[in-house]
Amino acid sequence: MAILVTGGAGYIGTHACVELLNSSQEIVVVDNFSNSKQEALNRVRLLTGKDFRFYPADLLDRKSLTSVFSENEIDSVVHFAGLKAVGESAVVPLRYYDNNLTGTINLCEVMREFGVKKLVFSSSATVYGHTNNVPITEEVPLRANNPYGRTKQMIEEMLVDLYESDPTWSIALLRYFNPIGAHESGLIGEDPNGIPNNLMPYIAQVAVGKIRQLHIFGGDYPTKDGTGIRDYIHVTDLANGHLKALNYVRDSTGIQPFNLGTGRGYSVLEVVEAFENATKKHIPYRIVDRRPGDAAVCYANPEKALNELNWVAERNLEQMCRDTWHWQQWNPNGYEKKQLISASGLPYATDYTHIAPHLNQKGHKH
Ligand code: NAD
Ligand code: UDP
Repeated sequence: MAILVTGGAGYIGTHACVELLNSSQEIVVVDNFSNSKQEALNRVRLLTGKDFRFYPADLLDRKSLTSVFSENEIDSVVHFAGLKAVGESAVVPLRYYDNNLTGTINLCEVMREFGVKKLVFSSSATVYGHTNNVPITEEVPLRANNPYGRTKQMIEEMLVDLYESDPTWSIALLRYFNPIGAHESGLIGEDPNGIPNNLMPYIAQVAVGKIRQLHIFGGDYPTKDGTGIRDYIHVTDLANGHLKALNYVRDSTGIQPFNLGTGRGYSVLEVVEAFENATKKHIPYRIVDRRPGDAAVCYANPEKALNELNWVAERNLEQMCRDTWHWQQWNPNGYEKKQLISASGLPYATDYTHIAPHLNQKGHKH
């Protein structure tokens, strides 16, 4: 039996695929590469030494999705596929509603057709909107305040309705806080298109010299140093949360939301300082106006995930910064092929020694 991973070529999806393969689970991956590259999946294979089936399919294409289910014995689904840029979602909201909602409806309909009713869904702390109730528990009312967040909130509500119509479903709604970092090998990581919107990839591009300085959005928030506070979580910890959630949905029926965060908030200035300490790179910055829509403080109460999933984040901010830096340093242009043209004449996808000098040609540590 296999786990279907939608959006498996993306930032969090690749890290989850690695952890799933490393724990000897069979996976089938679907991605339309709207925000990712084939090379990311090559790296997953290289890192794990394991192969898996991949379908370059779009969730909006119901026929292709049906083929995936008829050609594989799928028993559960981890559903990462979705568009995720908050700013862009305000510019092209219909694209976001169509992709995220219609994609999920298609997926659930095909799942139902094939009798597959175990689902782990990528939701987001964005569903809480602005709240003064920190640390945020799962009971805080949902009040998403941008189109992207509303797609996540609507999907959660839709999945509750689905469960109520058929209580043999089992669904985990994972509300991620701020995923950052990269696999410790430096082979996979976040590869944003163009100028990054999020703090950590922006800092990493300043460190590698692609951007001159960081703009810190707001120095007058009611926080200890005036900058915004978030709950940053290492992407490998987050990936492992999906393995725990899969165990949970396999063993039960029901629908439950879970916060996946560390429970600890750091300000922007603390993140800059931690990055500088972990990497010995100087990050020039300038404090500018607040970014519209940003909350002052947002961090999780992650106790429910500990009590019910037996999951807790293990990696600290220093490790998040170090792993981000290794990924950025060795892949300054992300997964772009030209970074991988090999001096030794090996095909670009099999010679990694020049991007990750601590690895041998098979991607394993010396
Ligand atoms: P990502 O963009 O790197 O990965 C998403 C993947 O889904 C991409 O590879 C993209 O090509 C694919 N995809 C999108 N629409 C598709 C479609 N219609 N059919 C097939 N594939 C499709 O994003 P990520 O950071 O890995 O996020 C994964 C999930 O987690 C998303 O649903 C996102 O909204 C959610 N999330 C992310 C964050 C974050 O900060 N990264 C925070 C909270 C929630
Ligand atoms: N931030 C910043 N400069 C940037 C990007 C982000 O100062 O270039 C701040 C932002 O205002 C917030 C924190 O960093 O306080 C995290 O922002 P990010 O976009 O990474 O996550 P989100 O706002 O979605 O929580």
